[in-house]
Amino acid sequence: MPRKFFFTKAKKHKYWLKVCDRDWNDYNWQLNNRVTDPKELQEILGLSDKATKEISDSLKILRMAITPYYLSQIDSNEVNDPIRMQAIPTLAETDIKKTDCKDPLHEEADCPVPGLEGILTHRYPDRLIIYVTYQCAMYCRHCTRRRHAGETDIPTPMSKIKKAIEYIRKRETIRDVLISGGDPLTLSDDHLEVILKELRVIDHLEIIRIGTRVPVTMPMRITDNLCNILKKYHPLWINTHFNHPREMTDLSAEACQKLADAGIPLGNQSVLLRGVNNHPLIYKKLVKLLVVNRVRPYYIYQCDLSQGLEHFRTKVSEGIEIIENLRGHTSGFAVPTFVIDGIGGGGKVPVMPNYVLSQSNHKIALRNYEGLIFNYTEPTNYTHTLPLDIKKYSDPVDYKNTIGVAKLLTESGEVNLVPQNLARLKRRKK
Ligand SMILES: *Cc1c(COP(=O)(O)O)cnc(C)c1O
Repeated sequence: MPRKFFFTKAKKHKYWLKVCDRDWNDYNWQLNNRVTDPKELQEILGLSDKATKEISDSLKILRMAITPYYLSQIDSNEVNDPIRMQAIPTLAETDIKKTDCKDPLHEEADCPVPGLEGILTHRYPDRLIIYVTYQCAMYCRHCTRRRHAGETDIPTPMSKIKKAIEYIRKRETIRDVLISGGDPLTLSDDHLEVILKELRVIDHLEIIRIGTRVPVTMPMRITDNLCNILKKYHPLWINTHFNHPREMTDLSAEACQKLADAGIPLGNQSVLLRGVNNHPLIYKKLVKLLVVNRVRPYYIYQCDLSQGLEHFRTKVSEGIEIIENLRGHTSGFAVPTFVIDGIGGGGKVPVMPNYVLSQSNHKIALRNYEGLIFNYTEPTNYTHTLPLDIKKYSDPVDYKNTIGVAKLLTESGEVNLVPQNLARLKRRKK
């Protein structure tokens, strides 16, 4: 049995003290007993009437549902407890700024099939997302997909999922499918397996990925039966969503290790949240806990401009400072990529400290994490030599099918990428 590393032992709030271990460790019990009513929350946490009314008044866009497990991990009665902030709504969510958007990443607009808006997002050439449910175990207060999350507790109709799968089947360029939601692991084992099975028979589909927060919010969902199902559909990857070291309880650590033991590579996508995790020391601890439990930190997201999230958003510089404190200071595979997801469907853009200081003909000046500045000498009398077997690849010379900035680097003849409605070009005489 591998060693488990965790920050705290999972707690059980005294409100549920009479619940037997069998129920407590049964994810269906956790799902069925989620706290959704502010009045019940008042009773559990001993809130004032005023605080309770504020919570009710906060639920305009995204409903509340908290698993008894996750709620029990709240440590203090402080409103700024990091677990509490992610689970319990505040009036700040009703403060919608002019620059906020319902769908900042244009996930609906980037749907190629009429009728599948909100079910399928195809943004990148070789991969896409399908949303198989809008239910989550817990509705994160910083949810970027808050326009849909929690809309219903019923899975996406199978007829629509089949249409999305049909779209994938018809396109050989799709090699990677992200199953997302909502939280796909709120589906039953059988339902999930039907979807996995349908996807796995598509020859050109290489990777299946699942995005889920249940290892954090309902770790008992990671059962032996689930792992036995998942491992039949390899290569299957899972990305989860830990934001704070305190979320890595013994039960969450066990959930991660079970998935890893099923041969599933695990990644973590966290969101930079003001007052929750926006400090290098928090991230240093978080990434260490992740890697010892075999979860590779994958992304740190700058918080999106979804409606009512301004109070959670940070300066971009805080993300850069976190990366500055990780790269070189700790194992390379413990360093995630800090990204800003482009408004209007721009996709993820990596942002990081500057490490390249200057460049000349064949020298490049670099700096490391210690501030040491050094050069790297590139080869002189250089002629580019192609790898011997390059002809075996489809487009060896100018890789004709590439797009975007990469295309400008080929011999395709493409010399520029021109923004639409460029005033300078419009001024030109016809
Ligand atoms: C994030 C995302 C993906 C996956 O991106 P990776 O960088 O490959 O993890 C795919 N499609 C959409 C719409 C996304 O937002």
